[in-house]
Amino acid sequence: MSAQNYASTMPHVMAVYGRSPLAFERGEGVRLYSTDGEVYLDCVAGIATNGLGHANPVLIEALTRQAHKLWHVSNIYKIPEQEALAKRLTDASFADVVFFANSGAEAVECALKTARKYHSANGSPERYEIIGFEGAFHGRTYATINAAGNESYIEGFGPRLPGYVQAKFGDWDDVRSKIGPNTAGVIIEPVQGEGGARALSPAQMLELREICTQASILLIYDEIQCGMGRSGKLYAYEWAPGAEPDIMTIAKALGGGFPIGACLATQEAARGMLVGAHGSTFGGNPLAMAVGIAAFDEIATPALLAHVNTVSNAMRQQLERLKERYSEIVLDIRGKGLLIGIKLGPNNRDFMVMARDHKLLIAGGGDNCIRMLPPLNITLEEAEEAVQRLEMACKAMRNAAQA
Ligand SMILES: *Cc1c(COP(=O)(O)O)cnc(C)c1O
Repeated sequence: MSAQNYASTMPHVMAVYGRSPLAFERGEGVRLYSTDGEVYLDCVAGIATNGLGHANPVLIEALTRQAHKLWHVSNIYKIPEQEALAKRLTDASFADVVFFANSGAEAVECALKTARKYHSANGSPERYEIIGFEGAFHGRTYATINAAGNESYIEGFGPRLPGYVQAKFGDWDDVRSKIGPNTAGVIIEPVQGEGGARALSPAQMLELREICTQASILLIYDEIQCGMGRSGKLYAYEWAPGAEPDIMTIAKALGGGFPIGACLATQEAARGMLVGAHGSTFGGNPLAMAVGIAAFDEIATPALLAHVNTVSNAMRQQLERLKERYSEIVLDIRGKGLLIGIKLGPNNRDFMVMARDHKLLIAGGGDNCIRMLPPLNITLEEAEEAVQRLEMACKAMRNAAQA
């Protein structure tokens, strides 16, 4: 079925997604139960969003308890739950202050505005240019598509916004050549997600940090996908001590499936973000914050982060063996922690269908990759089962090629 046909199965919904012909009625941990009675092993996890799996009892408890008390109040009042989550986020990171939004793209909008406002507050309003990277993904708003520069997401939406340029991912000479008197900052994913699970090395991150410091421009990390434990540290930047950003965006697993985004910043970087500079109706409402606090307390523990590394190492060893046995199919294994990218020989979309036939859900990615993004609390047994199902898909793929 073509993407068009899938869309037509939901005729009253804008046809912007290439949907697979599957619907689910419930989930539990890493399992998803489809409306046609099948059980799937979920290594998509809402694209790294259900970090604690489906129907997590701790999150259900936090959500329902808060639902009986208070859902929403305006940000014209104090929201103690917001301060409680912000304190957790800042205590556990480089940041001093947080702005709460409802999605990743909104968090990035805040980050970009914060960077420009910083220079404007410093008397340099001409410093508005943001350097992004080829293959990046920052969301689907006007600013975020322009920051990422992916032509297929910009095309047809009018003129490109001024003030955004792209450099080659990992090519710091290219970055240096693009820094000028108008540069405000650099935005980068320490581990590219949609772009094909490409991870920066600690040395690369330190060098980029140094470039930004030397040029007096702000370094923004987009950790919406690679943050919140996904890389095996709470934040991927922790793999490179000394490469802390000035601003960082998180979302996805922050709410465990409840829509929350956040922009974290140092006091200095946020110096322009004063009363009236920014806002959101829903951002940081008590219901979202209650779930966010519960999710944070589950994820930001040494035990869970150690578990992510244990499972990641086991999966990567098994995948390396798969690569030896199916060298025409599995070309490269990349990413960090449980953000696992596999570059394929055959078409990644065809492979995803094969995996689905073997009751394994995986995500696609740039550079003909597939991504495995299981819940962070997936057990070693479940992770092994995922690789076994992947192997069945490899076998089916090989048989199909030989037929
Ligand atoms: C998903 C994602 C976004 C966008 O988040 P939305 O909630 O879809 O707006 C931005 N940056 C990265 C790295 C992402 O993975």
